[in-house]
Amino acid sequence: MHILFLGPPGSGKGTQSKILENKFGILQISTGDILRKAIENKTDLGNKAKSFMDEGKLVPDNLMIELIKEVFSQENFTDNWLMDGFPRTLNQAVAFDNLLSELNKKLDVAIEVDVNKDLLIKRITGRRICRNCQAPYHIDFKKPKVDDICDYCGSNDIYQRNDDKEEVVLNRLKVYKEQTLPLIDYYKKKNIYFKVDGSKNIDEITSEIVTIINKKLNINLSLKMD
Ligand code: AMP
Repeated sequence: MHILFLGPPGSGKGTQSKILENKFGILQISTGDILRKAIENKTDLGNKAKSFMDEGKLVPDNLMIELIKEVFSQENFTDNWLMDGFPRTLNQAVAFDNLLSELNKKLDVAIEVDVNKDLLIKRITGRRICRNCQAPYHIDFKKPKVDDICDYCGSNDIYQRNDDKEEVVLNRLKVYKEQTLPLIDYYKKKNIYFKVDGSKNIDEITSEIVTIINKKLNINLSLKMD
């Protein structure tokens, strides 16, 4: 499965990616998570990316394209993946298509998670993340089952990202509108674009996404409780 999520910061695409990863073993490739790890580990990439991220700007295309090439060149790389946060510009989208065709692959489906601006701001500023496994939480909408303990990995380090603070969020939304929204037309033209209403509750959105994937790929993923 080759899936791509589009959506502004706070749309819930990270939450949905994690759910699909946990339920169906589809690898979530989150460039935001990869960059945050790189910053934490003070790698060359992390040092280059940090100032852009802190200001809510996009990291330059050449760095991002290199990063993705590296991810896809890893040995034993799974063929079941889900892009969460890449591509974010037309340049990245074209470079990604070129990379996939070199690897004899293509995207199956691009799903936009659509949410209005007021709700986005509320969601992002209340968002908290597990520093260890990057699972997303929210102070009102999605608390961990046990206070301050990550449901997935048990870590007690749940924090607010610098770029989720209100002053940076407005800039991130502006950047999304200017640079990432054009991708919708790009994927519409390829006949792989679908949209879900990201203001619904988490389970409903997951169910809509699974329905789209099943239809488009002609498969039968099931969300029935285990
Ligand atoms: P995210 O966790 O997806 O919201 O990404 C956090 C930040 O990482 C973004 O605001 C950008 O600064 C940077 N970033 C992540 N993915 C990309 C990308 N594909 N292109 C450029 N910058 C990115």
